[in-house]
Amino acid sequence: MSGYEKVLNSLKTKKNKYNKFKKHNAPKKRDFGKTTCICKQCGRTGQGVIRKYNLNYCRQCFREIANKIGFKKLN
Ligand SMILES: [Zn+2]
Repeated sequence: MSGYEKVLNSLKTKKNKYNKFKKHNAPKKRDFGKTTCICKQCGRTGQGVIRKYNLNYCRQCFREIANKIGFKKLN
């Protein structure tokens, strides 16, 4: 969950503030750049997200699941 979503959740009961926050702080929609590749498991963005073979896991999550999905750990 991103910071933006967290704040939105906390403002759910305050309708006017919720709408105002949504209007002025919505994340930019990007065609390329760091928020276009997001880890499937934890939602990390940018550096360290493995897109090769359509994995879309960050290096930390990949390390945990590599054995399960058939990668051989060499060190
Ligand atoms: Zn991750």
